[in-house]
Amino acid sequence: MAFDLAGRLAAQQQAQRYRRHVCVQGPQGPLLQIDGREYLAFASNDYLGLASHPQVVEALQQGAGRWGVGGGSAHLVTGHMQPHEELAQALADWTGREAALLFGSGYQANLAVLTALLQAGDHLLHDRLNHASLLDGGRLSGARFQRYLHNDMTSLAGHLARCQGDTMIATDGVFSMDGDLAPLPDICTLAGQHGAWVMVDDAHGIGVLGESGAGTLEHYGLDARQVPVLMGTLGKALGTSGAFVAGSRELIESLIQFARPYIYTTSSSPAVACATLASVRLAREDNDRRAHLQELIRLFRHEAALLGLPLVDSPTAIQPLLVGDSGRALAMSQRLRELGIWVTAIRPPTVPEGGARLRITLTAGHSREQVEQLLTALEQVHGEFANV
Ligand code: PMP
Repeated sequence: MAFDLAGRLAAQQQAQRYRRHVCVQGPQGPLLQIDGREYLAFASNDYLGLASHPQVVEALQQGAGRWGVGGGSAHLVTGHMQPHEELAQALADWTGREAALLFGSGYQANLAVLTALLQAGDHLLHDRLNHASLLDGGRLSGARFQRYLHNDMTSLAGHLARCQGDTMIATDGVFSMDGDLAPLPDICTLAGQHGAWVMVDDAHGIGVLGESGAGTLEHYGLDARQVPVLMGTLGKALGTSGAFVAGSRELIESLIQFARPYIYTTSSSPAVACATLASVRLAREDNDRRAHLQELIRLFRHEAALLGLPLVDSPTAIQPLLVGDSGRALAMSQRLRELGIWVTAIRPPTVPEGGARLRITLTAGHSREQVEQLLTALEQVHGEFANV
């Protein structure tokens, strides 16, 4: 019997879960050209506005001229080139760790860590709202796998008390659909009491949080002993693509030996590594971009609260507005598009059932005036949908 793809697609439509690409006809930035129209966009994770920064673009062009475009083979064959080596060292230095390892994406890095470190019989404790790639890595690892209530230390402590043997606690540093932070100092204290390891996925914290932009751990003043495994992505605040894991030399050596998603894949482009080196430099040194982003976050939250918009309690660039119903979230994002504002509606299963929302993201590339424009449009659409 053939696979009933038509039936599956129809069911996806019916459940208001159908996903569609749009094709963006220009570089990333606050203004996006989509289908022949210009929108003011609050939807990307390009938090520092580096995806089309002239210095990053130039580093990519020069890198391609010097090193070519492709890595040619896996890192462990002949694909590990000098720009990869320099970037890994720069990332280890920035995050205060002995070593770092590069991956083609954050999804891959999470699968790599969890499948390489955990074995059948080990325990993995997950925050309920962790990113899908951490969940998938956990499933693949074969470890005993439990989810604690979101940021709930009583729930985590309860699970920890029942774990015997090697245990890993995995959490996002900044939660991707809510923008809130994990209570890492409390998680590390509990982990210390039970001899468990902590892994932080800091995809949305790197570049944005902390004095030098080194992320959620720097924000909290935590060190490598408290969080042995740090994963960060390069496609968000750093504006390029890929990811890294940073930690002790022993951790990195273990990934090189045992992480199949590292061993059996082609290295990322050396030209992109050159671009990322430029963006790491900018992210570390250019505090003005982070300060401007923080100012926009304060402005947005202050004014959105005055307008009575249903904000989530988030101190980061991710500022979701809770809607609840998927159809309504889609209709609101459609109405915003009519007003020239591009914001993504996020629906289950990406968020829990009944938790559909508009995921608004602010970036250092936006101006105060653009945030004011967003607020005006949100006020109007929120009003129009108040009794729908
Ligand atoms: N972790 C988190 C928390 C994320 O939000 C994402 C991307 N949405 C990833 C991992 C995956 O990273 P990448 O896009 O580089 O695969």
